[in-house]
Amino acid sequence: MTGLEVSHVSYRYGARKALDDVSFSVEAGRFCALFGPNGAGKSTLFALLTRLIVTGEGRIRIGGFDIARTPRAALARIGVVFQQQTLDLDMTVRRNLTYFAGLHGLSGRSAAEAIDAALAQLGMAERADEQVRALNGGHRRRMEIARALVHRPEILLLDEPTVGLDAASRQAITDHVHLLAERGLAVLWATHLVDEIQAADQVVVLHRGKVLSNGTAGDLAGGQ
Ligand code: ADP
Ligand code: ADP
Repeated sequence: MTGLEVSHVSYRYGARKALDDVSFSVEAGRFCALFGPNGAGKSTLFALLTRLIVTGEGRIRIGGFDIARTPRAALARIGVVFQQQTLDLDMTVRRNLTYFAGLHGLSGRSAAEAIDAALAQLGMAERADEQVRALNGGHRRRMEIARALVHRPEILLLDEPTVGLDAASRQAITDHVHLLAERGLAVLWATHLVDEIQAADQVVVLHRGKVLSNGTAGDLAGGQ
């Protein structure tokens, strides 16, 4: 597996440059934090990685596939957890994931197996038949992460996944995502919270659309 590769990517909203020659890569098995304050360009980068927006400047490869040349292959290899909740509260967990599996062409037994595996990876197997509305915020988030895994992506993107959650829920999510990386996923976790970068194997610091540094949390603490 080849993970994620961003090379010389720039993006403008009109005259405003939101990303300026951004390059970094995340290998399979790595938990990478994308760290930066509001306005740094994290959401813009996620929008490019999920092809909500496109740019002619630079290149993005996902699992080895160029997102501009082979978008379907690239997007099939990425799982995304957005900042905003996007669950149907009145469906069960399983129904929500079944719907998503269908979008990826999975149905019947293969969908059921993929859903069970994804829920188990997030410690949510026992809650599969509960209504989303009955779950607390942390469990809803874990369910969203499970959903992002149903089509067995190689890269997992999470945009500020712990916003609004209590410390215990945040820790549980961090721990589960770590395990996912240990099992071989490339993880890109966007955050503006400095305590969330401590657990990462790699930290890419984004500021005003530029990569300020790319290393470990230890490198940052050492004061570059
Ligand atoms: P976050 O920091 O959580 O990414 P933002 O406040 O930067 O959120 O953006 C929230 C939404 O508003 C996003 O959809 C973003 O694209 C849009 N947005 C942000 N800044 C501007 C702007 N200057 N003009 C228009 N839309 C913007
Ligand atoms: P972050 O997610 O790190 O908060 P964003 O990617 O949302 O950063 O924003 C990067 C820059 O682009 C900011 O200056 C923001 O105001 C601007 N921006 C974001 N979305 C839009 C938009 N839709 N229109 C214009 N400017 C935007």
